[in-house]
Amino acid sequence: MTEALEGSLARCRELVEDMGFARVRSHKEKTGEGAVGYFPVYSPLELYRAAGYLPVAVHGGGNQIEITAADSRFGSFICSIVKSTMELGMKGHLDVLDGMVFHDICDSARNLAYLFERNFKDKLFMEYIHLPQKPDGTAASAYLRGEYERIYVRLAGLRGRKPDASALRESIGLYNLNRALHGRLYRLRQDRPRDVPTSQLSLLTRAGGLLPVEEHNRMLEDCLAGFGARASNPRDGIRVVVEGSFCEQPPMDLLELLDAVGCFVVEDDFLIGRRWFAADVPTTGDPFSALAEAYMKSPVPSSVRHNPGVPRTKALVERVRRTKSQAVIFMYAKFCEPGLFDYVLFKEVLEKEGIPHLLIEFEEKMWTFEKARMELETFVESLLFEYA
Ligand code: SF4
Repeated sequence: MTEALEGSLARCRELVEDMGFARVRSHKEKTGEGAVGYFPVYSPLELYRAAGYLPVAVHGGGNQIEITAADSRFGSFICSIVKSTMELGMKGHLDVLDGMVFHDICDSARNLAYLFERNFKDKLFMEYIHLPQKPDGTAASAYLRGEYERIYVRLAGLRGRKPDASALRESIGLYNLNRALHGRLYRLRQDRPRDVPTSQLSLLTRAGGLLPVEEHNRMLEDCLAGFGARASNPRDGIRVVVEGSFCEQPPMDLLELLDAVGCFVVEDDFLIGRRWFAADVPTTGDPFSALAEAYMKSPVPSSVRHNPGVPRTKALVERVRRTKSQAVIFMYAKFCEPGLFDYVLFKEVLEKEGIPHLLIEFEEKMWTFEKARMELETFVESLLFEYA
C-alpha cells in the first residue's frame, strides 16, 4: 500500500511539473473530447465536463518556465501566476486547450483575461464569469443561473452537443464525490498530521486539475487508504492553519520545508476552489440552479469573496479553535492584493485573540529557502518552548 501511495505521489509530481500538458493531449486524442483551461480560484468544472471538455487547471508555470516574453505585457509589481500564465500562452504551451475561462477575483486576473482575449483569440475561445458579489439576493442567484446556462450552452454547442441535463447531473455527482474525498483527506490530516504531510496532500489536489474527475476520484480513494495505513514516527511540531494561498500556489519546496520544520498544517486554503462547497450540490432538479445556489450559499470564506454573513476574520479564528491549532501561518504570493489587504485585518484580530502568527511571502521563482527556514524554525521552536 505504501508503494502504491508513493507511486501515485510520484505520478502527481510528474503531472504538475509537465508544462507540455502531455496528459491533457493524450486525453483529447483518446476520447475526442475538448479541453478547457480555467484560472483560479473557483470555476464551475461540472459545466465544462458535461459540455464535453476536460477541465484543466491553469495555475501558472511554477518554477518550470522562464519568463522571457510576458514581462512585456505587465508592470513589475504583479504576482507570478499572472506573468507565468501569460508566458505559457505566449510560448504555445496552452495550444492544447480549446478555450480559457476566467472570473473576477482581482484586477490582475481581470487584466490577464483581457490580455488573453487580445493575444490568443485566434487559438482559444474566452469566457469570463462575473460571479455575483452580493450573496444574499434572489436576483443574484437567478443571474448566476443564467450565466451558467449561457456558458454551458455555448461550450456544448462548440462541441456539437445538445444541452443534456442528465450529463450535468452526472458531473455534479462526480465532483460532489471529489469534494467529499478531499474532505475525508483533510479530516485524516487533522487527526494524524504526521501521516499526511501537507506537501503531499497539496500535490494530490494539484494533480486533480489535470485529470478526468473519475480518475482523480480513484486516485484520492487509493491515497486515502495509503495515508490511513501509514504509521509515522512521533516527532515534535505545532498545529497550524495556513491562510492566504487561495490562488497562486506556494512552491513545493516551501511546503516540504513546512513539513520538515514541524509545522503540522491541519487546515489550509490551497486551491480552495476545488473544495468550495461544504455540502453536496443537489443532483436532482435544475442543475444550473443547483450550482448557482450552491455557490451563493457556500459558507467557505476567502479573501476573493465578499460575504458579510461570514466575516473572514471571525471564520479564521473559528478555524484555529476548531482544529485546535496553535498558530496561523500566512502564506501570500508576492503582490497578491486581495490577500495582503486582508492580512492587516486578520493580524489585528489574531493579536486580540492571542493567536501567534507568522507571515511568509512567496513567488513561483523562489530558489533559496534559507530565510524562510530560519523564520519557520524560530517560530516553531518558540511555540514548542512556550507549550512545553
Ligand atoms: S495571486 Fe492574488 S493578485 Fe495574483 S491573480 Fe491571484 S488573487 Fe490576483
